[in-house]
Amino acid sequence: MPTAWIDHARRLGAESLAFLLAADCPGCSLPGSLLCPDCAQALAARTVQRTTPGGVRVCAAHEFDGVVARCIRRVKEDGQTLLAPALGVTLRVALPQFGDEALFVPVPTSRAAFRRRGYRVPELLLRAAGRTPCRMLVSTGPRTDQRGLGRAERARNVRGSMRVRHPLLRPAGAGSSVVIVDDVVTTGATIDEAARVLRHAGFRVLGAVALAVTPSRSEHGVNG
Ligand SMILES: [Zn+2]
Repeated sequence: MPTAWIDHARRLGAESLAFLLAADCPGCSLPGSLLCPDCAQALAARTVQRTTPGGVRVCAAHEFDGVVARCIRRVKEDGQTLLAPALGVTLRVALPQFGDEALFVPVPTSRAAFRRRGYRVPELLLRAAGRTPCRMLVSTGPRTDQRGLGRAERARNVRGSMRVRHPLLRPAGAGSSVVIVDDVVTTGATIDEAARVLRHAGFRVLGAVALAVTPSRSEHGVNG
């Protein structure tokens, strides 16, 4: 094995260890734990069904609440991608809801968010769930943060925020079945916009899967 590679692996191991020692459980703040066993149990998935205002069926693994919400915030806002595998596997309960034939299309991450984080959260989760993302949608520029916006404002904010990648190069793709993937679904505005542009390009949208949906009482989550 090349020495450089071994050095790299050692450094990575040391960094991970240092990270773990500095970490605390997102669920209960237990020190020295990336995710304690009790909180890992709280991540047991159940399916939550929702329908967006535009009529797209959303199947999620969790409600956006408690331990799950705190774990997602760590991944999205604190860069703690080591939590993604634990979250992603729970997404598996939602995946078979739409059959086996569909392509999984993540909602696009804005360039600004990708620059800030260095990764795309829906893709990270989908890969952790064992599926390959089909990056069919691209962000078309900056859009205002969805946080703090109400239902109508969110719908206006996402309008025109994404497009289908090279639709003209994919005439054979038209008619393919797709399932939209997001990390957190709040009002469903982002899912509805993704469904609109995909349908416009000729795809058949079966529905959407998400790691979590906000409880119906709340409109102010971390996403659209
Ligand atoms: Zn804990």
